[in-house]
Amino acid sequence: MKKLLVAVALAALLLASCGGGAGGKPKIGVAIYKFDDTFMSYVRNAISDNAKDKAELEIVDSQNAQPTQNEQVDAFLSKNMKAIAINPVDRTAAAAIIEKAKAKKTPVVFFNREPLPEDMQSWDKVYYVGAKAEQSGTMQGEIVVEYWKAHPEADKNKDGKIQYIMLKGEPGHQDAELRTQYSIKAVTDAGIEVDKLAEDTAYWDRPKAFDKMKAFLAAYGDKIEVVFCNNDDMALGAIEALKSDGYFDGKKQIAVVGVDATAPALQAVEEGTLLGTVLNDAKNQGKATFDLSYALAKNQDVTKAGWEITDGKYVWVPYQKVTKDNYTQFK
Ligand code: BGC
Ligand code: CA
Repeated sequence: MKKLLVAVALAALLLASCGGGAGGKPKIGVAIYKFDDTFMSYVRNAISDNAKDKAELEIVDSQNAQPTQNEQVDAFLSKNMKAIAINPVDRTAAAAIIEKAKAKKTPVVFFNREPLPEDMQSWDKVYYVGAKAEQSGTMQGEIVVEYWKAHPEADKNKDGKIQYIMLKGEPGHQDAELRTQYSIKAVTDAGIEVDKLAEDTAYWDRPKAFDKMKAFLAAYGDKIEVVFCNNDDMALGAIEALKSDGYFDGKKQIAVVGVDATAPALQAVEEGTLLGTVLNDAKNQGKATFDLSYALAKNQDVTKAGWEITDGKYVWVPYQKVTKDNYTQFK
């Protein structure tokens, strides 16, 4: 009897050490660059909802520190996780992560922060789930163009040009760089000239955006005609600053655009403070991240995981424009 118990215990241990997990569920390690990011909390919830009954997840907060995340990846690998899903703090750190994972033959799915193409090519068990940053920028620009054409009063100084402020996400992040570039490109492609009053990073962060917008208002006041924000949290911070300067009280109006379509942003669209946003589809990005990680963990064919895989490595989840006309569909 005792021998049998020992054998059972040993077998259980062996299973666990192989990343088998309870009841044959594969263990998957997930690292999020920082839990305290509105959009990433949506993606995180989507990943765990999809994992229910299927896999044993260990989700960790990298607290916006790449060294912390590197240690977390080491821990995942030494626990023999069957796959890891990584939202890098610094996307250029992907190379080192891939190297370590490859040595342990542990597949990696990156998400939201896109590794450099050469890193993506360094091993065949590396995937990326995200959205085409250019597309979100273009859609933001198109929302502004439509508004500008319908509202001649938006051109406050009547010079035919848009005097704008750009609030950027974290420098180096593909979404910050490309949204900044493509939102303006969509405006100029539509034949509208622009005048950049100021551009600065607020690191995706609402309180930081509030402070920056306060400073811009002090410097440029009513010269500002449009405020482009790389995400909704920053747009909401900017709106708060604008409110404190007398905007949106029925007399002074201004166009502010964001990206993500978070719940408070949809609320702001409803209230008429946020002109528009772009759905960054957290639900489907989270689902795709889980589905790919799970297929890889089970050694199944990822091309049969339910997602179109581009260039053998990428799952692109489409963005969608959100304005007063359609926001109720996204609530
Ligand atoms: C989102 C931001 C978020 C960032 C995190 C972007 O895609 O639009 O809201 O802070 O990802 O990496
Ligand atoms: Ca103008």
